Amino acid sequence: MAIAIPSRQLFIDGEWKEPVLKKRVPIINPATEEIIGDIPAATSEDVEIAVEAAQRAFSRNKGKNWAFNSGAYRAKFLRAIAAKIAERKTELAKLETIDSGKPYAEAVLDIEDVSVCFEFYAGLAEGLDTKQKTPISLPYPGFNSYVLKEPLGVVGLITPWNYPLLMATWKVAPALAAGCTAILKMSELASVTCLELAEVCREVGLPPGVLNILSGLGNEAGAPLVSHPNVDKIAFTGSAVTGSNIMASAAKLIKPVSMELGGKSPLIVFEDVDIEKAVEWSIFGCFWTNGQMCSATSRLLLHESIASEFLDRLVQWAKNIKISDPLEEDSKLGPVISKSQYDKILKFISTAKNEGASILLGGSRPKHLEKGYFIEPTILTDVTTSMEIWREEVFGPVLCVKTFSTEEEAIDLANDSHYGLGAAVISNDLERCDRVSKAFRSGIVWINCSQPCFCHAPWGGIKRSGFGRELGEWGLENYINVKQVTQYTSGDQWNWYQPPAKL
Ligand code: NAD
Repeated sequence: MAIAIPSRQLFIDGEWKEPVLKKRVPIINPATEEIIGDIPAATSEDVEIAVEAAQRAFSRNKGKNWAFNSGAYRAKFLRAIAAKIAERKTELAKLETIDSGKPYAEAVLDIEDVSVCFEFYAGLAEGLDTKQKTPISLPYPGFNSYVLKEPLGVVGLITPWNYPLLMATWKVAPALAAGCTAILKMSELASVTCLELAEVCREVGLPPGVLNILSGLGNEAGAPLVSHPNVDKIAFTGSAVTGSNIMASAAKLIKPVSMELGGKSPLIVFEDVDIEKAVEWSIFGCFWTNGQMCSATSRLLLHESIASEFLDRLVQWAKNIKISDPLEEDSKLGPVISKSQYDKILKFISTAKNEGASILLGGSRPKHLEKGYFIEPTILTDVTTSMEIWREEVFGPVLCVKTFSTEEEAIDLANDSHYGLGAAVISNDLERCDRVSKAFRSGIVWINCSQPCFCHAPWGGIKRSGFGRELGEWGLENYINVKQVTQYTSGDQWNWYQPPAKL
């Protein structure tokens, strides 16, 4: 399974470019803690060059080459990218695994999703051509009005490390479909596959400057992108703290932003469930992607009548999860992304213990793994609603459990959060599921499952989980200027002012 990490540069104006300050940062394999290569680290000097390239690409030939060319034209590139990614699936999945620590089988699914997402937005790009000049019905004679759907301009796309290439794709594919030109700044903790996306763009002949890809640190490469006056929008996925900083900086320029932030999502399990199926979804909902999902259902709410049996089976299933180097066959839990995340998660667990929570399972490094940022699947009970572990996003394989006695109590507990990204309910009573779905204060609801995600449906949250929606047709709207065009069709003088005497 060994694979070499390609050594890359920044991707600007269709070419590989060494960072102006020649800075690079190491790539650390989280499973071995070894340095396995390095990535270029952009600074404001490179951001400046990339923004200029994106501006040129946007307006080249008065926009006819890209931004105001047909959606069908842009779709060809998106489809070509999808095909190349599919062709390189195995290699890209291996690189994603080594770089991010996610189990290989999960990385394969991610890369497949990347390809599907580019294809999907190719279809929506083509669809845009038929949606131009949509008439607006006006109840006033003498006027007609229609809407043009145009690209917003040069957009900055800032993404996290948990689904490195997939999170980038959720932004790149719709932005390019809309006709924007873009600068992608992915996370410094997992940039390898996004740099390979650059190579794919080169191979398919994407016009220079349409997509520029900058690896680098948040404060050195991300912040200058946000504050750049010629970047028309920032689409951000990451933590609430960084999101808030980005909003403050963008506000100075009245720059629009969309925000996909963190979560502390609930999963309610009622008493009428098939315990084995519900247990498996509870585990998948919290421990998939090594627990590092914005939408992880990390607060499990169990009906008190089944809690004891359920917890018993939950522990058995969780003990059965194979924790190993994520490249190993059948690995189901790899390391968390970095030493600092590892320390942060263990601190969350020790604070929860100090506050009175009980550790039902896990809570530390697995004994059989001496190296790597591995943390056992951890299940906490005796949690109160004032505890940090109940309120804050851990972003690791840590599940906290509470019980409830009535549907109302379950809903109140579920909605007891500053966040509002995902929420899930498991019950055989579908009417109840319907009621609970409506009662959840969240942007996403899962019924009788947790986490499956399809690029055709909208994704995003409310409250401190952010605003704006990615994916589906809503994801395209993020990058579109809805332009109203109104025409005065009457031949009459407007006659608002007294006409002056004619000379
Ligand atoms: P992060 O906020 O630390 O970093 C995200 C990105 O922002 C990185 O590319 C980083 O370099 C950049 N950045 C950091 N400081 C910046 C600044 N001052 N200006 C501009 N850019 C800056 O988040 P992370 O640790 O990479 O990702 C984990 C977080 O992402 C979690 O909170 C998780 O819930 C969230 N997330 C949300 C979704 C969603 O769809 N809602 C999806 C995945 C992850």
